[in-house]
Amino acid sequence: MYSATKQVLARPFANMQPQSRQALGLLVLAAALLLFPFYHANDADIASMANAAAYVTLALGLNIVVGFAGLLDLGYAAFFAIGVYFYGVLTAYQVMPEWSGYWGPLAAMGLVEKINQGGPDLVHFTLSFWLALPAAALVTAAFGVLFGAPTLRLRGDYLAIVTLGFGEIVPIVFRNADSVTNGAAGLNGVASPTLFGFDFGVDATPYYYVGLFLVALLIYVSIRLRDGRVGRAWMAIREDETAASTMGVDLVKYKLLAFAIGAGFAGMTGVYYVAILQTATPDMFNFNVSAMLLVMVVLGGMGSVWGVVLGAFLLQIMQSWLLPDLNWALHGIGAAVGNDWLQTVDMVKTTQLIFGLILVFMMLFRREGLIPATRKTPPLDMQQQAAQVQRGGFVGMEKIGHWELRSGNALEVKDVTVKFGGLTALNKINIVVPEGGVVAVIGPNGSGKSTLFNVITGLVRADGGSILFQGAELLGLAPHTILEKGVARTFQNIRLFPNLTVLENVLIGQHARLKTGPIGAVLQSPAGKAEEKRARQWAVDIIGLFGNRLTPRLGQTVLGLSYANRRRVEIARALASQPKILLLDEPTAGMNPNETLELAEQIKSLHELGLTILLIEHKLDVVTRLAQNVIVLDHGEKIAEGPADVVRQDEEVLRAYLGRAGRDHVAAMAAKAAEAAAAEGPGHA
Ligand code: ADP
Ligand code: MG
Repeated sequence: MYSATKQVLARPFANMQPQSRQALGLLVLAAALLLFPFYHANDADIASMANAAAYVTLALGLNIVVGFAGLLDLGYAAFFAIGVYFYGVLTAYQVMPEWSGYWGPLAAMGLVEKINQGGPDLVHFTLSFWLALPAAALVTAAFGVLFGAPTLRLRGDYLAIVTLGFGEIVPIVFRNADSVTNGAAGLNGVASPTLFGFDFGVDATPYYYVGLFLVALLIYVSIRLRDGRVGRAWMAIREDETAASTMGVDLVKYKLLAFAIGAGFAGMTGVYYVAILQTATPDMFNFNVSAMLLVMVVLGGMGSVWGVVLGAFLLQIMQSWLLPDLNWALHGIGAAVGNDWLQTVDMVKTTQLIFGLILVFMMLFRREGLIPATRKTPPLDMQQQAAQVQRGGFVGMEKIGHWELRSGNALEVKDVTVKFGGLTALNKINIVVPEGGVVAVIGPNGSGKSTLFNVITGLVRADGGSILFQGAELLGLAPHTILEKGVARTFQNIRLFPNLTVLENVLIGQHARLKTGPIGAVLQSPAGKAEEKRARQWAVDIIGLFGNRLTPRLGQTVLGLSYANRRRVEIARALASQPKILLLDEPTAGMNPNETLELAEQIKSLHELGLTILLIEHKLDVVTRLAQNVIVLDHGEKIAEGPADVVRQDEEVLRAYLGRAGRDHVAAMAAKAAEAAAAEGPGHA
């Protein structure tokens, strides 16, 4: 019965595009919200909704910091407080310096007025609400940078503790700065907004509409940021900081940006919130507020814009609407059955408990929240897989063009030493990679190969030496700058952005080659849109190089890919950055012989297009196939260098590979042979 009804109801929508269906849903929702005060003319409930709007915008701001960039901020309410006090102080009768002629220009702009309360003339600040919204966003954003800067190097627990501290400090400052904030007694007489001469006063409806506008605005901003270069950079940081920086994301810049924009949302909300209340005390911004906002984000879905809106709305309505109604009902029942406890119980006091329970349940049963940020694309089924022609080699290479031929050396590693405490991982290593060449580095485990890549890409510091790339020093540069110069790498233990899709991973590889910043993303400039379109096409082209391996899986999160495919995505991501040299750290590790052969061919194709390659590889047949020059490392020393077949015969190399036992074995064999020769007697030598 139910399903039949559902079918009938769904029929008109069945043929709609998902996008138009979404648009229709949004339209209906927007209409319902816009008309809400008309069909539900209860001032208290409209006020609850206006209040909920404030929490939705706060949660959206926190979502940028925690959900997008993955920075756990436990003191987010501090920014909210700063917004509140910014508007509060600049409109309430709190700070009133003595009037002098200097204030004249500001008075002409309507920012202050001259008042007289008996005694000398005083200045009364009269900042307009509409001006205060963007101004507070800017001011709190500046505080976001201020608080963010010292905490940037921290991650996880440490960051949480420091932000917790900031969250505590800010209200204390407001409490103690009596002369400006009226201390613990709080601000009074904060001005209500006026619009075209109409004073909002204490009627909830106009605030509700302002709240609705702010929610719509900040949803829009969140989505625009999320779906472009900036959002991808944040998510890359969230997923894997190291990989993000080696793919060109400036960690400091983008973390600060997340802090600043998140804070800006809170500052704007603060203005709105205090305009409704027309009063504020420092106690309103304690840890509970930050914690509640975090629960809203977790409930809705970290990083999910609509999820966070829903989470914040549900929890706020629960507090201001459902629980009081429940009280009322329980008290009624209590009166009817004559139970004292039921008559006096206050469910609103259980809010914290409910939050705690929600958090526990979400962690146990639905970590991704009510509306998950990434919609899972299912893996291909058997039929889909069977339908694919598996192709090796590179296809569609004409699309990626070729590298210009240069002469000389691309990379020169000179006397580079890296020490980890007492361990010398690299000792005065010299390596030269000619332009357009393929050089392989081999050596037993722990010989320093990956460390060599790490020092070239700026992940570990050198204790001496120099690394020149096309003549310019790389040592001392940050990983993202090194990528910008054209050095891209893969990792031995694949470092993709696991919860992002194949396409997103490869798009992040282009970060350094794109320009759109946060403002361009929000304003959707034609140049920005065109850039994004080109970026997506380029990503699809690069992914297409691997034949049908990745193309049908563009929308899948890389978490679900096979090992070999993850390696391919990592190479595609590096290629997307348009590198001049590609550093591959054991690219075929974990691949079967067929896949290994295929990848070797693909690497060869890249080389033929003119790409310079430095390769760490264990499989000697791959090395022989690809490399013109082979460098052998052992215990941080370069023990041999030369063409692959020559190096293969080198006694010292064999010894390094076979190890001590092998060497003893070889020695024993040699001794035996000598003995046998001696026993044969002279004349047979
Ligand atoms: P390979 O890639 O040749 O197997 P690595 O370069 O990974 O070798 O490691 C070389 C040596 O340096 C090993 O002994 C390893 O334990 C050590 N090492 C590598 N990275 C670090 C680090 N970050 N801190 C301390 N020791 C390290
Ligand atoms: Mg290694």
